[in-house]
Amino acid sequence: MKLPGLRWLIFTAVLGSAGCAQTTQPGAVGVDRPQLVGIPAGQMEALAEAEYAKQLETLRTAGKLIETGSDIERVRAVMNRLVGHVEAFREDATAWNWQVKLADRAELNASCLHGGRILVNTGILTMVGRSDDELAAILGHEMAHALREHGREKTTLAASKELLKLASRTIVKKYENPLMRSSELHDKAIDLLLTLPHSREAELEADRIGLELMARAGYDPAAALTVWRKMASASTAKSPWLSTHPAPDARLQMLESLQPVVRPLFEAAGQP
Ligand SMILES: [Zn+2]
Repeated sequence: MKLPGLRWLIFTAVLGSAGCAQTTQPGAVGVDRPQLVGIPAGQMEALAEAEYAKQLETLRTAGKLIETGSDIERVRAVMNRLVGHVEAFREDATAWNWQVKLADRAELNASCLHGGRILVNTGILTMVGRSDDELAAILGHEMAHALREHGREKTTLAASKELLKLASRTIVKKYENPLMRSSELHDKAIDLLLTLPHSREAELEADRIGLELMARAGYDPAAALTVWRKMASASTAKSPWLSTHPAPDARLQMLESLQPVVRPLFEAAGQP
């Protein structure tokens, strides 16, 4: 498969970023931030498919890929119950080819790539113990990133950022402004402007959508609080997830404040 080059990504990102879009409906939790998703979905699909295949192959070679057995069946059952409610946010996602695999690794980490390709470390199962509610909180959060297409949004911003860097260097050359000459400063400013606010916001969006998904699927939304507290108390060395999932305090506050919004959905769902 031929993957898109950086130039092509920049070109399509800029073309496509002319307007803002919404990848999901707001749901009861009200996620309605306009998004820039200039990279075409087909290109993200190709990137995600190639990346997932690479991850699985690396695990298979190391003898750490788990595709059968009671653990993966349990994770798949929880995923399927959550998938049964994705239409609350986007109808097309019910037809996605949702997949989940387990990696035999102790680190606390899980991910869901574009199009619903999920990877969960066995360390997560150790952490949640017998609680499917806590497992649903982790899966719901990761699935929400894919539903909301945060990866596509991030790639669009990264490609636009490359273009901004090129543009600023051209301006520096043209006007010889000493303040503008530090390209390092420019790059840092662009990072701060584009990357940081986006990732914090994306995290909280994934929390909100994931919380509603688990409640609709009949998983106790209070488990979102207990599982993130467990995650936050783990050391960074043991939890690579913490380095890519910032703002634990803001996360807990928000999850707490949304309990009255999602509890009626949980109660209406009943026990499966
Ligand atoms: Zn996240």
